[in-house]
Amino acid sequence: MQYTFYMPKTVREALEILVQAEGPLKVLAGGTDLMLDIRNKKYQPKGIVDLSGLEELKQITFDDGVVRIGSMVTFTRLANSSLLKERVTVLAEAASVVGSPQIRNQGTIGGNIANASPAADIVPPLVALGAVVQVESAQVKREVPVPEILAGAGKNNLAPDEIITEIKFLLPDEQSRSSFVKFGRRNALAIARMSVATVITLEENLIKEARIALGAVAPNPFRATGLEEMLAGKSPSKEVLEQVIAASSQVVSEKLGNRPSAKWKNEAIKGLMRQALQKLKLV
Ligand SMILES: Cc1cc2nc3c(=O)[nH]c(=O)nc-3n(C[C@H](O)[C@H](O)[C@H](O)COP(=O)(O)OP(=O)(O)OC[C@H]3O[C@@H](n4cnc5c(N)ncnc54)[C@H](O)[C@@H]3O)c2cc1C
Repeated sequence: MQYTFYMPKTVREALEILVQAEGPLKVLAGGTDLMLDIRNKKYQPKGIVDLSGLEELKQITFDDGVVRIGSMVTFTRLANSSLLKERVTVLAEAASVVGSPQIRNQGTIGGNIANASPAADIVPPLVALGAVVQVESAQVKREVPVPEILAGAGKNNLAPDEIITEIKFLLPDEQSRSSFVKFGRRNALAIARMSVATVITLEENLIKEARIALGAVAPNPFRATGLEEMLAGKSPSKEVLEQVIAASSQVVSEKLGNRPSAKWKNEAIKGLMRQALQKLKLV
């Protein structure tokens, strides 16, 4: 297949190329999903807009309580960021277990969101953190909560001339703890994949707020608000945590109904939830 390859040097230039395009174009970040999708004819673009020259999209910054991550930041950079390792463990941990070192060096946070896989590892942490994506076209800049940019398995709510430029969220406070655990690899059977992301804020001996997101249970990762409510306002105890572990199976069962993976995942989630909660060292 023949296509025109564009290499813009600024976001503005990339957006102008997208808006002036005559045929369908695709944005290229790390290419770890896109090149396979083109090879498998999921996409047949007339041109490719390579974002790798856009240095402005490769920063991680922290200012006024807000963490901002450029969409071209790779998994390796997320995993190695001292700010994220210390204060946003859930995100650094998720990035550190993606694919292989090569995939982590290439793949980006923006690509992980836009690709909208049910099993995208970076998405459950972002959902649990309440992250917002900044989306830009040549005409408009908008901010969208992560769950709202996702539109089902492999689908997003981006217009063809829009790109994700930044992801931002409030830095969890110093009394918070977070964790990420996953089961399964990309190339394993679809049933052997699932993930849990938690962000828990403590106040003295109480759980002030709990956020729990599940991956690879529904078309896109989602917050298990019923489980969060079981923790919020409670003093952490083995009993409370066991109740959440047992209830997690119910959440998965309701989502999956009688799908073939349901029986297996209903059980596996309990082990995964136990690990995620144990990592928080609440008791
Ligand atoms: C062997 C292998 C193992 C993998 N393992 C994992 C894993 O363990 N966990 C996991 O979550 N993923 C995994 N992946 C999937 C992949 O690496 C990730 O989804 C990655 O985040 C994609 O990012 P990318 O930068 O490579 O995106 P690309 O492949 O460049 O793009 C992906 C899609 O997003 C669009 N896009 C990219 N950036 C933007 C943007 N800024 N704005 C708008 N649209 C954009 C592209 O047009 C394309 O449709 C694996 C892939 C492979 C090949």
